[in-house]
Amino acid sequence: MRRRLLLASLAALAYFPVNDAHAQGSAGDFGAQRARMVAEIEALARETRVETGRERFNERVMAAMAKVPRHRFVPPELVRDAYRNSPLPIGRGQTISQPYIVALSTELAEPRTEHVVLEIGTGSGYQAAVLAELVRQVYTIELLEPLGREAAARLAHLGYRNVEARVGDGYQGWPEHAPFDSIVVTAAAPSIPPALVAQLKPGGKLVIPVGSAWEIQQLLVVAKRPDGGTDIRKVLPVRFVPLVPGK
Ligand code: SAH
Repeated sequence: MRRRLLLASLAALAYFPVNDAHAQGSAGDFGAQRARMVAEIEALARETRVETGRERFNERVMAAMAKVPRHRFVPPELVRDAYRNSPLPIGRGQTISQPYIVALSTELAEPRTEHVVLEIGTGSGYQAAVLAELVRQVYTIELLEPLGREAAARLAHLGYRNVEARVGDGYQGWPEHAPFDSIVVTAAAPSIPPALVAQLKPGGKLVIPVGSAWEIQQLLVVAKRPDGGTDIRKVLPVRFVPLVPGK
């Protein structure tokens, strides 16, 4: 018992402390909130079927959305909003994406159990956790050191052993671990970064919002053909925080 208390207090130092009222809420409360969130994602998936070409998202993707404890990835004062279908601030001007967008980006990456996936823009670590439920290995890169460090600690604490996070410039990708089966970018780039296309396997998908911070961005799926060329499909107008050029 004493050991458990010690672990709990150590955890509180490293993670957003969840206040008592929330800590007392049973896991079942959050489970019910997640189930409602999943139902909302399913409804939106049906509404956007013409644009996305998908009437419903893959069962495994939805199971991951129903499993990952999103309330552990948001600041303490926003825990009660964690399962609303909206983006939320996570500090330093950044946001955790809307659940529907996380599910859609994951779906478009077509994750399979044997895949190795790269994410650009770790932020809170939530998208990385969703991917980690679905694939063998996730690599994720964050530009802002405090966010990247916190996310890495949070993911480790939650038991995600198949995620490796590092602080760096996502425009360069992670050549040491390339090629990737898919790459998910969670910040908007002015154009498709060539290094990311280069680090994609033939047949792989790059899911990326493209456009400036001031205009409507488009969520794109860049499919790499066996001959190394690409086919680009516009999926939906979206709004993401910008992918900032690294130094
Ligand atoms: N995937 C995140 C949401 C991220 S918001 C989540 O699930 O919570 C986008 C993130 O991209 C921000 O944290 C921002 O700091 C980061 N970012 C911006 N430019 C970047 C770059 N060049 N390389 C890596 N990360 C970058």
